[in-house]
Amino acid sequence: MATDVVTMDKIVSLCKRRGFVFPSSEIYGGLGSSYDYGHYGVLLKNNVKAQWWRAMLQERDDIVALDSAIIQHPTTWRASGHLAGFTDPLIDCRTCKLRFRADKLGEEQCGRKPSVHPGEHEACSLTAARDFNLMFETTVGPVKEEGATVYLRPETAQGIFLNFKNYLQFSRKKPPFGIAQIGKSFRNEITTGNFIFRTREFEQMEMEFFVPPADAERWFEHWLEQRMNWYLELGIRPDHLHLRAHDQDELSHYSSATSDIEYLFPIGWQELEGIANRGDFDLRQHAEHSGQKLEYVDTADPSARYLPYVIEPAAGADRATLAFLVDAYDEDEIGGERRTVLRLHPLLSPVKVAVLPLVRKDGQPELAGEVYRELRHRVQAEYDDGGAIGRRYRRQDEIGTPWAVTIDHQSLEDRTVTLRDRDSLAQDRVAIDELAGEIEARLRAPWRSPKLG
Ligand code: ATP
Repeated sequence: MATDVVTMDKIVSLCKRRGFVFPSSEIYGGLGSSYDYGHYGVLLKNNVKAQWWRAMLQERDDIVALDSAIIQHPTTWRASGHLAGFTDPLIDCRTCKLRFRADKLGEEQCGRKPSVHPGEHEACSLTAARDFNLMFETTVGPVKEEGATVYLRPETAQGIFLNFKNYLQFSRKKPPFGIAQIGKSFRNEITTGNFIFRTREFEQMEMEFFVPPADAERWFEHWLEQRMNWYLELGIRPDHLHLRAHDQDELSHYSSATSDIEYLFPIGWQELEGIANRGDFDLRQHAEHSGQKLEYVDTADPSARYLPYVIEPAAGADRATLAFLVDAYDEDEIGGERRTVLRLHPLLSPVKVAVLPLVRKDGQPELAGEVYRELRHRVQAEYDDGGAIGRRYRRQDEIGTPWAVTIDHQSLEDRTVTLRDRDSLAQDRVAIDELAGEIEARLRAPWRSPKLG
């Protein structure tokens, strides 16, 4: 019996139990909202990022890659507007001593009575809202002196704008073209929480797509569609995903249009990715503050010079990873025994195939070892010979491994194995010589979440 009741607690507990994500600095009591990715978490998040790169770079020829510095010239943030405007309204509660975001009061919980929203506190216990800048400050050089203040980037996008000129020169690209980057960003969020949904240190997957101004609206629509399809093709259920256009008063200082891709997390509909038309705001600001010309000049027609408009799909690698985990989480029953299973798209699964000798004798471990060493050249594989076979299947189901190969006594006679499918539970007999090809073919085949029925 499948169940649709996925709570954040179940996800957190599976992640810890199976080594996806641990609370950071746990031996010192933890540090609020800091998390460490364990072995399977690293593999899963790497697969999410690899699929993003595939969609951005490998399957297109109009996007190039960048990996810019986290600490950039501080004027970057004056030009981008972050120093003046990257703030959240902060409210203190005099009664429970917690701090809240004024615009999220309805979602927060009181420090004394968690069932009470601070919005329901007596008005006199809340201070007036004041602006709080979300950028982390630090200093460069050994001496704390004036002029040495720098910031940890709160978004990866600005590194792209700072390099725009380099890309015009070396990449022989002309608008429309994009620059993509994945990297860590830092925000001193007032309130964090909900596991890896909102943390102060997180990874972003951002792409700035430079277009002739007259084409901006068309490209905005193009990217809305592309990005929605990316999540759907990787198995997110369509009824858990929607687009929400920002109201005029919600738009960032740089944007003329923004739509969020929202996912139905256990905490409700929340932003997964923002797609914005940033106009020429960023290039104009950096041109002004740096004194450099950042226009695109057509070599064939130098009178055609303009500042491109920018369409930006900005996603969070951690939030996407959480959404894939939530969407994949399932519980069912096999032969009267309950199992937890992550029905991840095989391309995202941390391990693609597990190799399991039925018993630890009669030459089975030796043959299984041979099969494993062959498979691991081709895909991420795992060898496990410890404990009852049912327990080993359960363990692989919980980490979302789509296929398990079992070596039994027949394998030693005819060099065939059983190939078990995580979702259908079908067990096919496959020749060892054909195994790697069969697994790669299954990995490339179109996939549909079995949760869709
Ligand atoms: P929110 O409204 O949730 O604070 P935002 O609108 O400020 O997010 P953007 O600046 O558009 O977010 O950042 C793009 C993406 O980066 C977000 O859609 C999200 O996936 C991710 N992201 C932003 N802030 C965080 C955070 N504190 N923790 C984890 N991911 C984040």
